[in-house]
Amino acid sequence: MSVKGAKKCTCPGRSDKIFCPRCSDLRMLILLKNGNDNLKYRRPNGQLSNPVWYSRLKYNGRDAYKVADKMVESVKKDPKYAGAVQVLMFYINGNRHQHIKKVIL
Ligand SMILES: [Zn+2]
Repeated sequence: MSVKGAKKCTCPGRSDKIFCPRCSDLRMLILLKNGNDNLKYRRPNGQLSNPVWYSRLKYNGRDAYKVADKMVESVKKDPKYAGAVQVLMFYINGNRHQHIKKVIL
């Protein structure tokens, strides 16, 4: 079980991680513009998925909106995603149904 606000990953054997799909406070969904399937991930069932980023564990417990702002800046600086991103959706990790922030690039 993850502990909200913990600065380190609490998953067995993964204590050195910078991000964790379970322990990071925030989950960011990167919705790509059409024609960027090369940036998507292929699921085991063959479907393509939009990329997901998790917030840095060292930022756990901080103001979620400030952490989200940092993530927006990181995406903007990443040449891989230049011109490819339509919308960034932020969720409290573990809650996929209600976003806390939406950024249109
Ligand atoms: Zn973890």
